[in-house]
Amino acid sequence: MIEIRNLQKAFSGTQVLKDISFDVKEGEVVAIIGPSGSGKSTLLRCLNYLEQPDGGHIQIDEVVVDTTKASKQDILNLRKQTSMVFQHYNLFKNKTALENVTYSLEVTKGYSKEDAKKRGLALLKQVGLESKADVYPVTLSGGQQQRVGIARAVAVNPKVILFDEPTSSLDPEWVGEVLKVISDIAREENATMIIVTHEMQFAKDVADKVIFMSDGYIVEEGTPEQVLDHPQHERTKQFLQKTL
Ligand code: ADP
Ligand code: MG
Repeated sequence: MIEIRNLQKAFSGTQVLKDISFDVKEGEVVAIIGPSGSGKSTLLRCLNYLEQPDGGHIQIDEVVVDTTKASKQDILNLRKQTSMVFQHYNLFKNKTALENVTYSLEVTKGYSKEDAKKRGLALLKQVGLESKADVYPVTLSGGQQQRVGIARAVAVNPKVILFDEPTSSLDPEWVGEVLKVISDIAREENATMIIVTHEMQFAKDVADKVIFMSDGYIVEEGTPEQVLDHPQHERTKQFLQKTL
């Protein structure tokens, strides 16, 4: 369903994505791992044009974008296919938990207030936060805020949900509940997900495919067993030794 070919991105002359190609099938969960600075966030941000790629081809379902000549409409179409869960939640601080989830349903999906509320409450229930619908993010724990972020991302029914280290800024006590919500959604909704993570056990449990990135390249990819248990490349082995 997703086809990425020869994606490239440089920042002021430094090539950060060198020639990235991979596929994701419908319903697949892909974990992207790799050292800090290897281009993982830039890759996710290029997929929804938070960063403009310098070259390559992005296809997400029926939307096909040649990044060297993407029109405004192409970019809008592509953005509609994805939603993103950020490391630092990025919730609207002046909106309640429920309003965070319903906002884009009303604004971009054309839901009535009533229907948006119904769907929003169902999603908050799914992430275990129905009782927090009317509170503001500041009163929620990090884990709860991130669960709202996940409900918000799921709400618009995207073709793919992009997660950028969704548990990296959480206190250890909240990591488990957030990972559980992600794996429940992967399973129950058969959602297609691309997840940048440092949680190797989670990647092993939830991912269908693991991609190891280093220095702007995909060094190796395969099943969790192949990449995490039987890495072929020296750089993958070194990285895993440091993290396990
Ligand atoms: P990762 O997520 O794997 O840690 P990033 O994609 O965040 O890596 O960053 C890859 C490289 O690109 C880093 O060297 C980083 O400093 C650089 N970089 C990322 N975003 C920008 C930006 N907006 N401007 C300049 N350099 C950037
Ligand atoms: Mg990053």
